[in-house]
Amino acid sequence: MKGENVKEAIVLKCQDLFDKDRIVTFLSPAKGRFEAVSRGSRKLTSRTMGKMEPMNLLTFRLNAGRSLDSVTEAEIICSFSGIRQSLPASAAGLYMMDVINRQSAEGEENRPLFSLAKGCLRLLEGGLSPQVVSCFFEIKFVKVMGYMPSLHRCAACEGPGDHLYMSYRRGGGICPKCLGTSGRDQGMEVSPGTLQILRFMARTAARHLPTLNIHPSVLSQAREYLKCHMEHNLPGRPAAIKEYEKLSG
Ligand SMILES: [Zn+2]
Repeated sequence: MKGENVKEAIVLKCQDLFDKDRIVTFLSPAKGRFEAVSRGSRKLTSRTMGKMEPMNLLTFRLNAGRSLDSVTEAEIICSFSGIRQSLPASAAGLYMMDVINRQSAEGEENRPLFSLAKGCLRLLEGGLSPQVVSCFFEIKFVKVMGYMPSLHRCAACEGPGDHLYMSYRRGGGICPKCLGTSGRDQGMEVSPGTLQILRFMARTAARHLPTLNIHPSVLSQAREYLKCHMEHNLPGRPAAIKEYEKLSG
């Protein structure tokens, strides 16, 4: 049988298929988002039982099928059990899986996206605040997807500066001059601290996050902007956002 070894993939989503099987959506560095069938994984006696859960990092063999490829020899590399013990951390992890599932391209290599997903799961597993990890995930996600908000220049005239009115429709900060001519348009006023944290998170690596001390009001404003920016610029509002907001307050 024709097949390939998938060294690393994260489970984004699982759906039951008939009585015994599951359709699993994965994210891997080389294939991006893809679906495959896991045969027998709903049977209690199956070797794959419990492995096909969202957030699990797996290695497996992918065998070519007529309509869908199938997964065999699956082994868990990391199940992120620490995340699963905390409701807010689980909600943040599942929210990230849902965003990637709905808003990333199917079958396209995307190594930065895979690194981001794995890195954020590791941060949650390490006990970092789910709000901080989610904010970091959101700004990096829009960056990876090519919808990075303009944080150093006016999104309209490209004039440099700390522009504190941010329009998600126009793609970021808007300078006073452009605001004067075109007015406020689908955006919000942010504090200097919020702009600083967005800039910092956009350029920093995951390993620097645990040392960061962010005021809750700055964090919630940064996330408020990012939420609007994602809703406006990326297709499909993830359903998990509502659930996640309920849990994370
Ligand atoms: Zn301008």
